Amino acid sequence: MLNMVTSSDDLAALLDWYAALGADCALDEAPQNRFEETQRQLQARQQARIHAQRPQGQVAPSNPAGPAIVSPSRSKPSTPLPNSPSRSQQKATASSMPGGGAAFATSGNAGQLEDAAARAMHAPTLIELRKALAEFDGCSLKFSAKSLVFGDGNPDADVMFIGEAPGRDEDLQGVPFVGRAGQLLDKMMAAIGRDRSNSYITNILPWRPPGNRQPSLDEQAMLRPFIHRHIELVNPKILVFLGGTAAQQLLGSKEGIMRLRGKWNNYAIGSENSTRNIPVMPTLHPAFLLRTPAQKRSAWQDLLEVAAKLDALA
Ligand code: URA
Repeated sequence: MLNMVTSSDDLAALLDWYAALGADCALDEAPQNRFEETQRQLQARQQARIHAQRPQGQVAPSNPAGPAIVSPSRSKPSTPLPNSPSRSQQKATASSMPGGGAAFATSGNAGQLEDAAARAMHAPTLIELRKALAEFDGCSLKFSAKSLVFGDGNPDADVMFIGEAPGRDEDLQGVPFVGRAGQLLDKMMAAIGRDRSNSYITNILPWRPPGNRQPSLDEQAMLRPFIHRHIELVNPKILVFLGGTAAQQLLGSKEGIMRLRGKWNNYAIGSENSTRNIPVMPTLHPAFLLRTPAQKRSAWQDLLEVAAKLDALA
């Protein structure tokens, strides 16, 4: 391809083409096998962990929840919840979570899954959960992403929207749903009198998959304990799952979003002794609606259901 480039205009056009394909950052001069590199780093870190007794959860975070969260000092996340894990619960793996846990783990490393579950379940507040994610090295997406995109909006909100993963704009700004799809999500929320001051927004993955590819099932499963704990800590009255990836992963379903959308479902949080089912409305992802505007009516209908349920629960 480079042999065909004859002028700076050609070069600029080539770079535009790469960016349109999702290859929007130069990583190195020569190709490198990042999968091998990540495996080596993970093995080295695991070895180091085996030899070090790491005290857990005692250090105050140097970067509180970050600018994206409207009210980090609110009482809900800063007070350990009644269902904060006991030491024995921390040993539980993702698959034992009430929410269904690791619905589609295919070949994930069991030790890392257990590590993810222990870190997530141990986090008593959103600030600590963000810190636990930042310190978790078990997902290679972390190493290619620029930012950890944790959440935005009001963590005290009664409704929580959950999408798939950050895209390019979100990765650059460190805030979920700020690109074109995010602007449409803002309009969808406005249609039911909502904005980021009375809603909370996050994704099942906090790191951008390179080139906006769909996150693999292993990546989703590895990060599943964190989004589960995220939901427990926000503890909303209603959840809205945006798109098939979030809905399938969190509901443990293989149904397509066209079948799941518009029908109330439940997501279980809490411990075995005290479970709470949060009503879930799966709906169409705003990025899909940008490509398929004819489906907007369906998504709007789903959101009217959400508004009615919120009124009923108020
Ligand atoms: N799509 C998502 O699913 N999440 C974002 O934050 C942005 C786009």
